[in-house]
Order: sequence, then C-alpha cells, then structure tokens
Amino acid sequence: MHSSLHWLKGALARLDLQSLRRRRTVRESCQAAEVAIDGQRMVNFGANDYLGLAADPRLAEAAARVLGSDGSGSGASPIVSGRSRVHAELERRLAEFEHTESALVFPSGFAANAGIIPALVGEGDAVLSDAVNHASLIDGCRLSKAERFIYPHCDVAALERLLIETSHCRRRLIVTDSLFSMDGDVAPLVEIGQLADRYNAMLLVDEAHATGVWGAEGRGLVEHFSATAPQLEQQATIRVGTLSKALGACGGFVVGPNELIEWLANSARSYVFSTAGMAASAAAAIAALDIVRDEPFRRTELLTHAAMLREQLVERGWDIADSTSQVIPVVVGDADKTLALAGKLREAGLYVPAIRPPTVAEDSSRLRISLSWLHTEEQVGRLVEALGKNPIGRGVSS
Ligand SMILES: *Cc1c(COP(=O)(O)O)cnc(C)c1O
Repeated sequence: MHSSLHWLKGALARLDLQSLRRRRTVRESCQAAEVAIDGQRMVNFGANDYLGLAADPRLAEAAARVLGSDGSGSGASPIVSGRSRVHAELERRLAEFEHTESALVFPSGFAANAGIIPALVGEGDAVLSDAVNHASLIDGCRLSKAERFIYPHCDVAALERLLIETSHCRRRLIVTDSLFSMDGDVAPLVEIGQLADRYNAMLLVDEAHATGVWGAEGRGLVEHFSATAPQLEQQATIRVGTLSKALGACGGFVVGPNELIEWLANSARSYVFSTAGMAASAAAAIAALDIVRDEPFRRTELLTHAAMLREQLVERGWDIADSTSQVIPVVVGDADKTLALAGKLREAGLYVPAIRPPTVAEDSSRLRISLSWLHTEEQVGRLVEALGKNPIGRGVSS
C-alpha cells in the first residue's frame, strides 16, 4: 500500500476498538423469508423487502422480457438518450399511483435526495431538517448552499420557532422521513403539513419505508394521514420514494406537479449527470405497482403482524423505541452487547442486523427487525423465543 494511504490502518483499528467496524456479508440466495448469508441459512429480518416482492417471479419475468429487448445498459443520462420507453411508462404509472401530475425516476433513492434538495434551495434559503433524517437527506442538505437548521426529532414546536426565525429567507424547505428507518416511528406529518402551509414553506416528505406499505392504496404515510387530514396531500408538495424497498426493484423517484418535475429534470445534478438506471429494473417496478394495486392484503397483513410482534417484544421487556410500524428496533445501548445479541440470534438461525453509530446515536445501538409479509407465524415465533425476556431491563443505554 502506498505510504499516502498508511493512515487507513489506524483508522480501521480505531473502528475495531469501538466495535464499529462493518463486515461486509455475502448473500448466496435471493431475498426471501430465509436467506443464505456467508454460508449460513437463516430467517431474514434484515431486508427492506416488506411486501416480499424482491424475488417475486412476476417482477423477474417483467425484467427479463425488457432485458431481452433492451439489453443491460442504458447508455446515457436520461436527458440525453438514456430514458427508455419503459422509464417513461414507469414515470407515468408512478404519477398515476401517487395521484400527482408527474414523476421523475432516479438511479436510487439516495441519488434522488442528493439531487432534489440542492435543486430547490440555495444561497439565501433555509432548509429545516429532522435530527434523525436519513443520510441521503442530510447529504442533500449539505450539498445545497442553503443555511441548515436541524430540529429535534419530530419536535413540531421547535420547527415552528425555526420557521419564524427564518422568515427573512427567500425560500424555506422542510425535509423529513415519513417513517424513520432506525426507530420505526412516524413523523407528525399533519402538524408539519399545517406549518408548511402557514409559513409558505416547501415540504419534502421521504416515504422510502412507507411506499407500498402504508395508506389504503399503499402510497405511504401522507395517504394514510390524509384519510383524516385531506389537506396534507396538497401540503406535502414534494414526495420522494424508492423503488428499492417494498417495491422490490431498484431506483428512486419524486412525484409532484409538472413544473416541479420539469425543474428537477433540468437541475437535479444526480439526474442530469448520471446514467439512467436499467430499463429492466423499471419494468420490475411497473410489475410491483400492479401487485400493490391488486394485492392489498400484503400490506394489511404485514401491519397486523407487525403490531403483534411489537406487543410481544414489549411484554418481554424490550425497548422498541417509539416504533409503530413494520420496522422494529430492539434498543440495547452498548455496541458490544448489541453485537453479542445479534451473534446469539445468528446461532439460532435468525438474521437480525446490529445497527451502531454513526447510523444511530452513541449508546443507542440496536437490533433492527425488518418484518416482511413473507415471514410466517412460526418464523416470527422463533425470533420472539430466541430473544426471550430482556435480561438487562428497559432503558439500558448507559
Ligand atoms: C433507503 C432510503 C433512501 C435511499 O433509497 P435507495 O433507493 O436505497 O438509495 C432514501 N431515504 C430514506 C428515508 C431511506 O430509508
């Protein structure tokens, strides 16, 4: 290794000392209720495949057909020659699904956020961001030249104070996950929508973990809350989602009015300067949208099973933070103890990833259970049994 890279040895050793080094795994099977990882078959609580579509043959067949006709490479940015008729059809379907005028598909959800935020706010503007937003939203805020204001997690009063404080700014943008990926809790979207409206701020809601799962039609938490607060659909002006989680494909998207999408297609740098994703993946996503429409039982059953699992964990003394969803953390606190617990589950044939800083705050390391519609009662029962009663008690964090 060249001497200019010698610092890496020390940097990695420090990660080891703090139990923060990530070991990359190899999955040897498709994503399913059971997976083979590093040679071991385990029940899989470590995929965001909430509806069980990642390996659904209908998606694979749709992708294979387009792979046969279009080949593998998109060849250019979507604004040059990369956007195929399949991408265009997917955007039309996404707009229809989301009840909006228009949609734009990005290579990933991360790319969507990294490109959209700097395209909406810049110098002289303010961006107001929840403290535990996803890394892609954080990076999108950092890439913009807008002044950044971080409000405490889900703290609507603090958000209102910031909106008052930033009233001199040219434009304001509020950004929030709808379903927070490490806590499984939900943003107070109705209140945030009202504030956005009252202070004439743009509101970007990232539905990455909610698309396909929440709402009567599976559009996400904006739809879910709109059942009792219909104005929210209008107030959540910019809605981001991913094709890569419940929809079982790959890519990110944003939906909204025509002018918004036109502007983003012209100015989001991760759209303009990145090759379009595979057309085959877009075909898989279209097949997924059909299934979300035709098989609502997947999302309703998943949410029922998630509620039952949360209840069982709480009964056994585990700290599941404020989860109200299919994403269920088991907060342990200490990174070492969390790794040990994940190891114990692994020995019992259960794959539940350990989440440590910097993904979560210091002393809030946790296991993260991603429940899928595919999990059987027996598989969930095995997890509950293997966890047993919390031996260290609730709130172990220090
Ligand atoms: C996963 C995630 C993303 C990134 O989506 P990818 O398609 O995986 O790049 C963006 N935002 C949130 C809130 C996420 O959880």
